[in-house]
Amino acid sequence: MPTIEFKSGSRQDVGTVYCIGRNYAAHAKELNNPLPSEPMVFLKPASSLVEEGAELELPPQSNDVHHEVEIVVVLNKGGRNLSLAEAKNTISGYAVGIDVTARDLQQKAKAKGHPWSVAKGFATFGPLSRFVEVAEIEDRDAIDVELKINDEIRQKGNSRDMVFTIPALIKHLSSIFDLQPGDLVFTGTPEGVGPILNGDVLSASLGNNLVELKISAKKMK
Ligand code: ZN
Repeated sequence: MPTIEFKSGSRQDVGTVYCIGRNYAAHAKELNNPLPSEPMVFLKPASSLVEEGAELELPPQSNDVHHEVEIVVVLNKGGRNLSLAEAKNTISGYAVGIDVTARDLQQKAKAKGHPWSVAKGFATFGPLSRFVEVAEIEDRDAIDVELKINDEIRQKGNSRDMVFTIPALIKHLSSIFDLQPGDLVFTGTPEGVGPILNGDVLSASLGNNLVELKISAKKMK
């Protein structure tokens, strides 16, 4: 079973990995998608998560693998039909993750009305940093997130620009799913998504370098 690590060194088993699409207006626009009236939810297999030290594998099935840097939260309690305040209280840590996406396969799936499981679910498509405890976050409503590739800034966002706040996302998820301790939520990507090439070094950071993630990409044959 995959686990996540806190900066303190403690680890937690991962449950379900929920992901949110189109949660920043500028990103929805760059892919010509309308803004959703409620959170757009999909799942990523927990087995796609990898930590720093692993390699991001670019699979032979895709010629256009994109980075989507995202704020990721872990829940320490679950529940159904949570209020906004209850939803906020389920969060025990924040991390930075990359929702790696085979954009060409996703576009084909979208055109056919097929699910995104393949485009989002390849092995190693979920690089994830260690988690920062809630108490370490100065302003939970304004968290910076950034991605550099080979030292060049490609994506820069702040959670204040989300269409739906993180507690609102969790409240929504709990109206559908039976949330469990150890569940993760990838909360959507800001604008600036683009291709990852063989040999690229990706460096993601959360909240002004509270925690960082570095991983290099390798094209597989
Ligand atoms: Zn995403």
